[in-house]
Amino acid sequence: MISVAEALAQLFSLVRPMEIEEVPLVSASGRTLARAVSARRSQPPFPSSAMDGYAVTDAAPGMTLNVIGESAAGHRFDGTVSAGQAVRIFTGAPVPDGATRVVIQEDVTRDGDRITLGDRLDEGTNIRPAGTDFAENARFDAPKTLSPFDIALLASMNVDRVPVARKPQVALISTGDELVMPGETPGPDQIIVSNTFGLHALLSAHGAAPRILPIARDDRASLRHAFSLIDDADLVITIGGASVGDHDLVAPVAEELGIERAFHKVAMRPGKPLMSGLLGETMMIGLPGNPVSAMVCGQVFVLPVIRAMLGLPAQAAPRRSAPLAEPLPANGGREHYMRAVLDEDGLRAATRQDSSLLSVLSGANALLVRPVDDPAREVGERVDYLPLT
Ligand code: AMP
Ligand code: MG
Repeated sequence: MISVAEALAQLFSLVRPMEIEEVPLVSASGRTLARAVSARRSQPPFPSSAMDGYAVTDAAPGMTLNVIGESAAGHRFDGTVSAGQAVRIFTGAPVPDGATRVVIQEDVTRDGDRITLGDRLDEGTNIRPAGTDFAENARFDAPKTLSPFDIALLASMNVDRVPVARKPQVALISTGDELVMPGETPGPDQIIVSNTFGLHALLSAHGAAPRILPIARDDRASLRHAFSLIDDADLVITIGGASVGDHDLVAPVAEELGIERAFHKVAMRPGKPLMSGLLGETMMIGLPGNPVSAMVCGQVFVLPVIRAMLGLPAQAAPRRSAPLAEPLPANGGREHYMRAVLDEDGLRAATRQDSSLLSVLSGANALLVRPVDDPAREVGERVDYLPLT
């Protein structure tokens, strides 16, 4: 058995990064920027007014000024403002030449073309200098998974097409005679495929393009057939059939198909039977079938692999720490990812940790990480966890 960290390192060594494709900005949210881009212009491109008011050369309480024109957003005032003059101005409009500040309209009384400034004027210039947000050619660094906020910034930079990493194509193969698809009528000894759909959701939410293949039955021909359907997938994930029981055929069939096997067993709970290797160009990960094990391995192994495929740094799932709200007994020889709830009192591990309990996983918002041979822990001690989002 190898450690979780060793398994991850071996997985990363099998990763081939995706090539770059260009997508329109409107489709780029959640995609991973593959190459740095730069601003095509400054923002704002001219000194612009931050408020509605009057652009002036100088201001003092009680001063009276002549209004000589107007500058609105999209329609600048072409002349110059001189002492004793003011230009009516609106938010986002270019500040006319000669003006050094904008007096907000609340501080002004207007009578025809004359304005009188109030007794108390606010201090600021209310002018946004050209390039305050960013200057032309400012770099937007890659790699980065683009958030809605990034999309707004790139739009403002006039970047309309974005170089992103191609989405990794992932083929999901469920294995087992007992499985039927959700919505089908199960036989008396059958159950519904669950983690396959959970993994599909997890992968879609993290930048991959997953595809659910027909369920492979517990015989070699059926499994071979499923593998024949992976086409141009970058990653094939099998679920179940991965331990060493009589009906666990994933490893033998993958070997028959010529897999270069990287490892088979990892010292973790849940999820000990885990395998990986290369089937020609396609990376393969074999996950355990137990629903919670498969989902936890999805968080701990599959998502970091997807991130590496997208060109993001090859790193373990990011951890945080929080104080315990309840004590924990000592941990054994396998790294344990306990289903837990984090609230304002701290972290509390669920009482039932069986790896078949999806209701417990669904009610959890954290995986509390117990290192190998971690001693018993008291209330208030800080422990690591992976947020479940
Ligand atoms: P296995 O690894 O094939 O021995 O499966 C371990 C347990 O997980 C068994 O109880 C299976 O019925 C169950 N299982 C396997 N694959 C799935 C799946 N895709 N969805 C739900 N349960 C599964
Ligand atoms: Mg099975």
